Amino acid sequence: MGPGPDDGRVTRRAATARLSLVAVLCAPLLSGAGEVGPALPTPPPAPETLPPAPQTLPPAPQTVPPAPLPATATGTGPGKTASPSGIETAVRRTLPPEALGRLTLDVWLVNDPDFPPVTPSMATAILAQARATLSDKLGFGTLELNVKGGESVQSFIGRHAGADKACLEELEPLRVRPSGRRAVDVDPKLVRRFLSRWSVESLAAFFPEAERRDLTSYDAIASTLLAEFDRKVATIADFKLANGQSLLAADKLDLRSYVNWICALRNQDDADLVLTNELILYDLASEPYPHSIFAKCKVGGASLLSPRRRAIYRRAVFASTFSMVTDLPFFQEDGVLTLAADDKLKVIGTFIVAHELGHAVFKLPDFYDHPPQCLMTTKYETGYVSGYRDLLQHPGPCPACQPWVDAKRFVFQAEEARRDGKWDAAIDYLRLAIKRTPKQIDGNYVRYIADLSVQVAQGYAALGKIKDALAWLKAALRIVPDHEEAVEVQRSIEGGATKYIENKEPAGGAN
Ligand SMILES: [Zn+2]
Ligand SMILES: [Zn+2]
Repeated sequence: MGPGPDDGRVTRRAATARLSLVAVLCAPLLSGAGEVGPALPTPPPAPETLPPAPQTLPPAPQTVPPAPLPATATGTGPGKTASPSGIETAVRRTLPPEALGRLTLDVWLVNDPDFPPVTPSMATAILAQARATLSDKLGFGTLELNVKGGESVQSFIGRHAGADKACLEELEPLRVRPSGRRAVDVDPKLVRRFLSRWSVESLAAFFPEAERRDLTSYDAIASTLLAEFDRKVATIADFKLANGQSLLAADKLDLRSYVNWICALRNQDDADLVLTNELILYDLASEPYPHSIFAKCKVGGASLLSPRRRAIYRRAVFASTFSMVTDLPFFQEDGVLTLAADDKLKVIGTFIVAHELGHAVFKLPDFYDHPPQCLMTTKYETGYVSGYRDLLQHPGPCPACQPWVDAKRFVFQAEEARRDGKWDAAIDYLRLAIKRTPKQIDGNYVRYIADLSVQVAQGYAALGKIKDALAWLKAALRIVPDHEEAVEVQRSIEGGATKYIENKEPAGGAN
């Protein structure tokens, strides 16, 4: 059960325990990082005191109390009986699949001429597979993926990464560069904070056995790990392309930098899904995931902040085909050489694109302990190819993912009700979504609850219930004080412009 605004406050201990879990499950998203490889094992019991979050992380959800539902709003909270539309009393726990919403995503192809390209026909096959997977695994059969166009990676990164300078300015000091800033030079306090999400023992388990004896403190782990980070980047920089150029040559480095991709997605407004053939180097040294650094130090896909996009509310995804199509043995996925060309595209569609959309659209985190049907399984020993084969052998949805899918279903239904002008129903569905959303989501839980609360406020405003609308906005702003849309809607209501809100496109889209 999610902490709806009505659910009261969680105890410190419960909140602490949750943080530890979320820190592991959602680490890539809390941090703006992406899918960088198999994940760390489940952490030990939560510490009594939380380490402060690294500066690049948004506020940790669990340190903030759940959004309080304004007491004056309706007098009935989610789950109680009086709802104008009757939905809250009538709704069943799991609705039929056809009740899931429609979503149309814009896709953009971004190619690096140094690597085998993603052609439009390959993209068609990859996207068809992603769609089939989301239908089979999450019961979501009404997704449309439309390729809008594409460009070279030079043009894409060039147009977007530095478009708003704030992003690169924030991340540049944390970035590793071959023969430039080393991982060991990044602020040790940030690295220490990042690593303290896990126990020393579970971190040490990622190191070669011979080295483990000395790894008895975070400082020892950090210095060994960062030295390995630097070695790995140097190794990759030594690889040569057929033209003799380094894989990380100065004029190509930004195009292949995860930091630049984070900023490009944050600034762009072209697409909800970017499909690329690029090698994306994991170069964010403030978040040295041991499994990435001991593996290939690259990113296969990520669900990232993209504030101007609305189809998946404020998020966009990138997915890279690189490790499935490259001839460089170091980067090739295990088992890829045994696959026919068509099967490679299926692996990409399922294990990279659909998996990332599971994060972005359904707010599902990575899981390590779900049944073999699970699309979101991320295990150290599971590569793309073996993971795809596991899914083929175990078709159908993962029951353990169902609470996330059910919660999202209410958001889609709210969207549909809103399209039909049924504002009471939309409000009821949104309140159910707030109540049912599990706390361990992909991304920032508190931000997500505030987003849904703003949509509730818009519903009340459309019904002319201004007092209720303002109370919900206040609740949203209490947990996310700089929520841009809450501020905007509040301003327009206080300015008496309720018509403006009624006519405005729903903020959440099919989020
Ligand atoms: Zn994942
Ligand atoms: Zn699952």
